[in-house]
Amino acid sequence: MFDPKAIRKSFPVLDQKVNDEPLVYLDNAATTQKPLSVLTKIQRYYETDNANVHRGVHSLAERATADYEAAREKVRAFIHARSTKEILFTRGTTTSLNWVAKFAEQCLRPQDEILLSIMEHHSNLVPWQQVAEKTGAKIQFVGLKNGELDMEALKNKLSDRTKFVSMTQVSNVLGCINPVKEIAQLAHEHGAYMVVDGAQSTPHMAIDVCDMDADFFAFSGHKMLGPTGIGVLYGKEALLNQMNPVEFGGEMIDFVYEDHSTWTELPWKFEAGTPNIAGAIGLGAAIDELSALTMTDVAAHEHELIRYVMPKLRAIEGLTIYGPLDDEKRSSVIAFNLAGLHPHDVATALDMEGVAVRAGHHCAQPLITRLNTEVGATARASFYIYNTKADCDKLVEALLKTKAFFSF
Ligand code: PMP
Repeated sequence: MFDPKAIRKSFPVLDQKVNDEPLVYLDNAATTQKPLSVLTKIQRYYETDNANVHRGVHSLAERATADYEAAREKVRAFIHARSTKEILFTRGTTTSLNWVAKFAEQCLRPQDEILLSIMEHHSNLVPWQQVAEKTGAKIQFVGLKNGELDMEALKNKLSDRTKFVSMTQVSNVLGCINPVKEIAQLAHEHGAYMVVDGAQSTPHMAIDVCDMDADFFAFSGHKMLGPTGIGVLYGKEALLNQMNPVEFGGEMIDFVYEDHSTWTELPWKFEAGTPNIAGAIGLGAAIDELSALTMTDVAAHEHELIRYVMPKLRAIEGLTIYGPLDDEKRSSVIAFNLAGLHPHDVATALDMEGVAVRAGHHCAQPLITRLNTEVGATARASFYIYNTKADCDKLVEALLKTKAFFSF
């Protein structure tokens, strides 16, 4: 039985007061809190096994290597990749998408097109702008319909010129869940590669990269109970074999001659230098935690919170909610604005009530511009496994208080 109150006990950070009110942490789309299992795993690693990986023959190096590679296998199983050769450890989604963009530089020619959606996070947009500048390829955008991805427009914009389709599975602003499996199929019919930004989906739902048939899939550890500074790029083995390494140096070579070098095999060909060993091991522990809960139950719990809170939020007069009209199509992100108030003021007022939400453009400025908000920003609440219906009530209550306070 999924019990968020019991789950909360593993998260010491949640047990505190902020501005004399119990903390209600609703900024999970930015980063999630870490359970004791992750914190102790990292501490134990440094206390008992700390050594550099792969090169050493002594016992500590062997233990560190075994744990680091075990984490890679945990990631593989979690996203249902075929082989650990397809799992590259990176710094996070941003680095992963930059690496894919580097690969795109190898492939793109001036008449080619890159298809993105208008809801992309800057990390799935700015690297593509750089690629477009360098190669002469053009970026096309798919817009919105009823607060979600306009699939008709997507079909119209796809053509045989399209070489890369890169889209988020879940928007960090709209909260909508995009049908990436269907999009991948359409992309492949046109001979394009499908890149999926899984930063906001991997923490919240079961992922099967083979079933969705993504060519590349990127996500971050820190949004799914893991530490910062660790993330993953999944790529199909055949593509990773074609892809040049992005960074060069130790660990990624096979043999170094005076005038040239050869690369080692996958996945290490991409992991130059000493990796974030503790980060990967921490991510492995986070995956253990989520797997024990099961991703089906994680998704079901968050949907229950959404179904519970959305009618209460809609009942607040003057509150504009962005994203899909159908709550069933929403992941655990809710962006909103209170009429006449800057979202920074709303977030500050909510903080006075102990409620942590985010305010700003959420690194999605083209989307925010398209949404035509009064001030080019929104507030955003986002849920995770430890949030309860009481947290939802507190959010609603704090919003009503904020509204009453500012109406004088
Ligand atoms: N894509 C999406 C949809 C995101 O929400 C985020 C994080 N806000 C990122 C990419 C970037 O992730 P990171 O900062 O961990 O690299």
